[in-house]
Parts: sequence; C-alpha cells; structure tokens
Amino acid sequence: MNKHMKNVTVVSHPLIDHSLTILRDKDTRTEEFRRHADVVSKILVIEATKQLKLEDRKIITPLAPMVGRELKDDIIVVPVLRAGLAMLFALRDLLPAVSVGFIGLERDEKTAIAREYYLKIPRIFSTHIVFVIDPMLATGGSMDDTILAVKEKGAKRIVGVSVVSAPEGLKRVVDHHPDVPIITAAIDDHLNDKAYIVPGLGDFGDRYFGTEQL
Ligand code: URA
Repeated sequence: MNKHMKNVTVVSHPLIDHSLTILRDKDTRTEEFRRHADVVSKILVIEATKQLKLEDRKIITPLAPMVGRELKDDIIVVPVLRAGLAMLFALRDLLPAVSVGFIGLERDEKTAIAREYYLKIPRIFSTHIVFVIDPMLATGGSMDDTILAVKEKGAKRIVGVSVVSAPEGLKRVVDHHPDVPIITAAIDDHLNDKAYIVPGLGDFGDRYFGTEQL
C-alpha cells in the first residue's frame, strides 16, 4: 500500500523495490541503470497521473457505438536538467502529447545551492497540470525553485515527482508549497555533508548518462 504523509505519497510496488535496489547498487552499469530508472519513472508517472480528469468521447468500435473516456487535462512536464531528462524519456512513452518546459539548475558542489542557468517554459494556463520531475529530491532546492518558477508563469495545479527523496528536502518543499503533492519512490535516511542522499544511489545524472568517469 502507498504511504501518505502530508502531501507526500511514497509509491509502493514490488517492481519499484526491485528496480530501486538495482539503481542503488554501486556496481550497476549504465545500461541496467537506464532500464531500471525507466521502470521506476513509469510507475511514478502512473501514480502521478491518477488525478487527471477525463471526458466522454463517442466512438464506434468494430462492433458497436459506445462512449469511451479520454484525457481532458492539458499537461506540461518540466524536467529539471540534467537528471530530470531521464524521467522525461519514460514519461513521454506514456504521455506522448505533453508539452515540455525546461529549467536548468546547476548545483554548486561546495555550497549545494542551485543556480538557474536556463529557463524555457511554455505558456501555462490555470487549467494546465504541470509535472515537475527531478529524480533526486535532496536539499529540495531544485524542486522548490522549479515549482516557484512555474507558479510565477501561472501554474495552479502542480505535482512534483522524484525517485529518491531526503526528509530534509521534502520538508522544505512541503513547507514552501503546501498546495503541491509530491510523488516519490523512497524517502531515505538523511543528506550527507555534501548534500548527497544517504543511502541514496549516488549522482543520478552521472549514473544515467554514463558520465561517472568523465
Ligand atoms: N543529486 C544526486 O544525483 N544525488 C544525490 O544524492 C543528491 C542530489
């Protein structure tokens, strides 16, 4: 069963547990990491899209007319560069029609404070639902800043999605944005002094994009 805290849903699924273990293992190679990051991201997206609204559509099957239902909501997804791209690939398979906005936040390795270096977000209407995707919700700075950025562009319905979260970061985001539900696959123990999530899985972007040794 999913665990719910204030605004936070920890998605429970055997495939998530299995794939997360492979993602966390330091010996997992890029190919496997990508495959399992996709599995986890897809399950999280399925959870995050549970609240989407539907509308009736009359169709005719090969046998009879019927009223089906189709998605009514317009969706915008905003991956936090670079690691958020990993989740975008998975999301695009399930929601091929989404509009995509980008925010580039670069983490200062010394201070762990994020600096915005790129922002390109489509026009947002209050009817849009905006998914902010960032696999590692560590200090919460990137999620917090991105939610703020999309709110400034007019977003009223926002959902944050992360693979692994730290309690410190979740608290920050929930405190600053009590109107934004967060969907995550795991809440880990703590952040270390370099703001990495422990036990975590290391640098998600490096492991997904195969840039660990570069
Ligand atoms: N970003 C990562 O990729 N990993 C962490 O543990 C924290 C932030």
